[in-house]
Amino acid sequence: MVLGQLGGSISRALQQMSNATIIDEKALNECLNEITRALLQADVQFKLVRDMQTNIKKIVNLEDLAAGHNKRRIIQQAIFNELCKMLDPGKPSFTPKKGKTSIIMFVGLQGSGKTTTCTKYAYYHQKKGWKPALVCADTFRAGAFDQLKQNATKAKIPFYGSYMESDPVKIAAEGVERFKKENCDLIIVDTSGRHKQEAALFEEMRQVSEATKPDLIIFVMDGSIGQAAFDQAQAFKKIVSVGAVIVTKMDGHAKGGGALSAVAATKSPVIFLGTGEHMDEFEVFDVKPFVSRLLG
Ligand code: GDP
Repeated sequence: MVLGQLGGSISRALQQMSNATIIDEKALNECLNEITRALLQADVQFKLVRDMQTNIKKIVNLEDLAAGHNKRRIIQQAIFNELCKMLDPGKPSFTPKKGKTSIIMFVGLQGSGKTTTCTKYAYYHQKKGWKPALVCADTFRAGAFDQLKQNATKAKIPFYGSYMESDPVKIAAEGVERFKKENCDLIIVDTSGRHKQEAALFEEMRQVSEATKPDLIIFVMDGSIGQAAFDQAQAFKKIVSVGAVIVTKMDGHAKGGGALSAVAATKSPVIFLGTGEHMDEFEVFDVKPFVSRLLG
């Protein structure tokens, strides 16, 4: 039972509340404040936590609580449902179909885990019988092509890139054309990063997107970036039509609350989580266990 998985801080807050003699607004507020602290620590954006708090107060009826219904359960359920709702943008992302060519473009800041995630995504589908291919359109970072090439070779996935060509738009377009001709059904375009959100990076993303006409643009986000997640995701969404999110480095200490920000900012669902440096450390995103971890 999912509610049974609710973790440390939240359980403690609810426990304290249930010990209070009268469950009045004050006791409920104290409990919600405690939960707020836990969620902020898990990197959930302040505004989202505040909205959630307001919604919970609307949902949880104090009279029901006073009448001796299972208070803890009602509140647990409300919090859990609210967080699940926040991770659901209301529409699924584009889903590629095996045997039909789809172009998937990856965007994200340098260091987010984009290149690693491109290979993981390709490898995941290859194991299921797809015919993926990788295009390295990152001409900014020295070594980006080598890294992709190495990963791709290890996984026996065809790749395209160039040491000489400095125009990422040209490489992206050529790579996509080549793999379309080879009947690849999943053409993955890795793009350049930069450390900061710079105008030049965003212009490049816009041009690559225009040249390759991707069916899906995936925003890759480091799960440990904390409160910066919202602005970062929003900045990419403003330039290209991000349609899905992948959160990386979920094997570390981060609880990944930034995922809620990314969903809110891009209005797109999280589809996978990166859980390590290796090719197969990649999981399909599942809302309920993720929320349990967030609350733990
Ligand atoms: P890019 O600059 O966005 O393309 O990032 P890279 O793919 O080069 O990754 C940056 C670093 O993060 C590398 O050392 C990767 O091995 C590491 N990395 C990527 N994804 C994960 C993950 O899910 N977990 C962990 N622990 N490390 C990751």
